[in-house]
Amino acid sequence: MLVVDIVYLLGFFMQTKMPLLPVDERVKSFKEIELGYSPEQAIKEAGRCLQCNDPPCIKGCPAKVNCKAFIEQVMIGDFDKALEIIEEKNTLPCFTGRVCAEETQCEGQCVLAKQKKAIAIKALERFVSGHGKNSWKPGKGNGKKVAIVGSGPAGMAAAIELRKKGFETEVFEALPELGGILSWGIPGYRLDKKAVQQTIEELKKKGVVFKRKQKVGSEKKLSELVQDFDAVLLAIGEGKAKNTELPGIEKQGVLYWDTFLQGFGAGGKSFGKKKAVVIGGGNTALDCARVLRRLGCSVTIAYRKNMPFMPCNKSELIHAMEEGIEFRMQLKPKAFLGKDRLEKVAFTKIEIEKEKFIDTKEQKELKADVCVVAIGQEYDATAVNGTELDGKEIKINGVKTELWGVFAAGDLTNGEKTVVHAIASAKKAADEIEAYLNEKK
Ligand code: SF4
Repeated sequence: MLVVDIVYLLGFFMQTKMPLLPVDERVKSFKEIELGYSPEQAIKEAGRCLQCNDPPCIKGCPAKVNCKAFIEQVMIGDFDKALEIIEEKNTLPCFTGRVCAEETQCEGQCVLAKQKKAIAIKALERFVSGHGKNSWKPGKGNGKKVAIVGSGPAGMAAAIELRKKGFETEVFEALPELGGILSWGIPGYRLDKKAVQQTIEELKKKGVVFKRKQKVGSEKKLSELVQDFDAVLLAIGEGKAKNTELPGIEKQGVLYWDTFLQGFGAGGKSFGKKKAVVIGGGNTALDCARVLRRLGCSVTIAYRKNMPFMPCNKSELIHAMEEGIEFRMQLKPKAFLGKDRLEKVAFTKIEIEKEKFIDTKEQKELKADVCVVAIGQEYDATAVNGTELDGKEIKINGVKTELWGVFAAGDLTNGEKTVVHAIASAKKAADEIEAYLNEKK
């Protein structure tokens, strides 16, 4: 590891942390590693907030949650009111309080961040989601029906927003399991699947109808939805790995992140003590590496730049290091080597010169029985293709599409691909759908 990487990491080790499961327990189980605050710990942490006049933490939140106001309610012990404040902007704090990239969002903007003492807003949000009483109610029925394609965070958040406005909502999910990326893509040690199940049950109780194994584009045509519903919301998410044409990608032992996480992300299956390499530097790469570690593998993450450029949450990076994952920086993947099975992954060495990354073409090899490729994601175009309406990619502009009555939310819309962005875009899409249907009257 380079000096620049070590200096970079030291800053994060110094920051306030939530209580964690001990490392030796973590690497043997898929239990959630962040233990969450007790009411006393939450009130104490909230008590550090300066209640700034012009709080930058709110500007840092993609959903514009009033962090200052909800933290004030935690300070005085009114957790129901705190939840009500959060839910005005973010209807799914049980997820964002666990998986948000807080370092670059609310906490990154907190005035105390410069001293490495940012208020633990994400942890407080998670606490409130578990201790406050959820208060949203379905609005008075308006007789209109909206179809939502995808049951991930954008689909769920849109269903809540639309039910609040009095719409009937039906959610069409391609997979047998509901929850999208929250169910299969984020491992259980980061997001307890009970939180996903509880949210889905809550939505069902409040009138959201879920249809499983209904892939739009095959089992269900988009044109049928457009005919049967007053509006359609596409919230399918980018749950598909971007393919690479690197030589040897077809070898046994080489997997894309989506196949790997769908098969092993929840644990409970035997894998064997293998030597594993994960290619990538984002949260998905770290998820794959930490799942492999829990399955008993020795794991190396290979990334083409140096550590400060890794797009993952830095807290995840620290957790991965604590769990014994090795990091090899400045390696660009070149090929997968071996007869039929993978034996080695070949890279070329990258050097940094005058802040530029130069491929030296010098070959480096890492031995591996298994390699998980996590270098990009895209949405499954077949989810919206193959209908008489489109047969081509639908153009999307913000939360609107080129088709009347068809809207978009989540990863499909322009912008960042995170859970909180998905929730924020779902709220916007619900407002657009309401405006569109009011105009149509
Ligand atoms: Fe509190 Fe930090 Fe927000 Fe100020 S910026 S109100 S200290 S959380």
